[in-house]
Amino acid sequence: MLFLLLLTLTSAVQSDTRVTLSAAQNQYELSSSLAYLEDPSGGMALTDAQAAWKAGAFSRSLDDSLNFGFTDSAYWFRIELHNSSSSERGWVMEMLYPIMDQVEVFYRFDDGHERYQIAGDSVPFNERSRQNHHINYAFALAQGESVEVFLRAKTTGAVQMPLTLWSENAFSARDHNKQILFGLYYGLLLALAIYNFLIFLSVRDVNYLWYVSYIIFYGLLQASLNGLSYEYLWPDSPQWNNRSVAFLLSVAMFFILAFTRSFLALWSTAPRLNMCFKVAMALFAAFWVMNLVAPYDLAIRVSTLAAGTMVALIFATGVYCWWREFKPARYFMIAWTALLIGMTCYVLKTFGLLPANFITEYAIQIGSAIEVLLLSLALADRIRLLTDENRRIQNELTSELENRVRERTGELEEANRLLEVLNATDGLTGIHNRRHFNDSISLECKRASRDGPLSMLLLDIDHFKHFNDTYGHQAGDDCLTLVARTIAAAVQREADVVARYGGEEFAVIMPATHASGAMMLAESIRERIKQLPIAVADGPVNVTVSIGVTTTGDGARCDPEAVVKQADTALYAAKEEGRDRCVFCQGGSTQQCISPSPAL
Ligand code: GH3
Ligand code: MG
Ligand code: MG
Repeated sequence: MLFLLLLTLTSAVQSDTRVTLSAAQNQYELSSSLAYLEDPSGGMALTDAQAAWKAGAFSRSLDDSLNFGFTDSAYWFRIELHNSSSSERGWVMEMLYPIMDQVEVFYRFDDGHERYQIAGDSVPFNERSRQNHHINYAFALAQGESVEVFLRAKTTGAVQMPLTLWSENAFSARDHNKQILFGLYYGLLLALAIYNFLIFLSVRDVNYLWYVSYIIFYGLLQASLNGLSYEYLWPDSPQWNNRSVAFLLSVAMFFILAFTRSFLALWSTAPRLNMCFKVAMALFAAFWVMNLVAPYDLAIRVSTLAAGTMVALIFATGVYCWWREFKPARYFMIAWTALLIGMTCYVLKTFGLLPANFITEYAIQIGSAIEVLLLSLALADRIRLLTDENRRIQNELTSELENRVRERTGELEEANRLLEVLNATDGLTGIHNRRHFNDSISLECKRASRDGPLSMLLLDIDHFKHFNDTYGHQAGDDCLTLVARTIAAAVQREADVVARYGGEEFAVIMPATHASGAMMLAESIRERIKQLPIAVADGPVNVTVSIGVTTTGDGARCDPEAVVKQADTALYAAKEEGRDRCVFCQGGSTQQCISPSPAL
């Protein structure tokens, strides 16, 4: 019973592994028709595999992708091809997983002749049937012919057998179309790398350098995965080619970590994550060396695992910085999401959860193209944000500076006003000084020339030298102050100016005042001072003053010096006439002086 079941299963395996080539089709998916056998020791020869096939030891894979993961075993596959009605004679078997170390193919045609081919990324590139980035095997199979094919795959990475059979014409046509897509993709990466490197030269922002290095090594990694770098960059170095994927992966990871750390300014936004990044970068730098010297199967496993973890770490860090409202994280996250979506689509396609079409087949390329474009945008946006921030700080500083200048200017103006007042004030008596008198008399004289009379009086304390000699200099000073206050109090009008003219001489300027008014004020001042009790050591005493008064007439040209001179003349006359009196003088001549009190 069990034997029967086995037999049916075996025959089912055998019947399914035959693919019939017809006129209607020129492309065949072979993976789903492959039977396989694991050879853990790797020591099986072709004859052993053929015997095993006959004994029904081969199995069928449950999923079409035929992905056996990382393994040290060799794998044998078997398929039978029969050209029933296709007029095509030339055929190409294409391996869509270009980084297999070596895959040997053993043909046995129905006319009895046999053929052997070997290809893979550890076999020199030129040994391939067609000069193509994918591993391929060309053979002839005319209409009516059949061939039994055994394949032996051995690699230090993951064993995957996505195998497609093309008619030679279809293979060339498809290859032609694919080249332009590769050209677009790698052209974009190259242009971005060059462009951003030039930007780095001009702005000297180290982020650009990390970004450019990342694009270059990510591009090389993709090219190695596509088998393109083996075709174009190092076709004669199968050994290096074999190691290139793990090496480029760790270099690209190093630079994307450096870029992320620097772009998101982790040292300030997330110091702990910054530590993680530093450790991870050191680790990947160590991987560079490890990937060159350690056994490849170990190197690729460790690098792939670490890279997967780091992609998660970078994504989580981006989310964290975004959540912390670090603005440049926006575009960064959108860029990474594009790549992750691309990767997810590709994985879903591989597991048959998404249809295999142009977009899902090239999802990683599309995602990474969008990613590098958006990262370039993110860099520009980051510079804009920094510029805005700088401008804001600069504006703040400027307005703060302006405020301080305004404050200082205000203080200076206040000090100036005070200085002006001090400059115009007599230190002893507190009334205006001689300088202010000079300014005022000039000003008032000009006004008087236009509209009206200007009067002035000059006052001198009588026998003040004697007062000083008798009561002391201090008492003299007190007396001067008291006299000054008395004059100021006697003057009623706002426009009048009271000033100390000299030692014990005072002057009053009286704009718009006629002679009679001036004389009345002079008399009033003289009277008030005479009544003034001045405290000295022996008790209160009195002083008298002599006053010279003058007026310059309406409309007449007013000369300040002449006015003062006339007042002085009048004062001199008052002294001459016995002191303690007011004398009026006009017209520059003493003769016209009237004493003691003019009847004007
Ligand atoms: P006359 O009646 O002729 O004006 O006599 P006089 O003594 O007042 O005349 P003179 O102008 O010769 O003397 C003025 C005196 O005023 C001289 C000085 O002792 C005194 N004097 C001038 N300035 C000051 C001052 O600032 N303080 C004091 N205490 N005395 C002053
Ligand atoms: Mg005097
Ligand atoms: Mg005097």
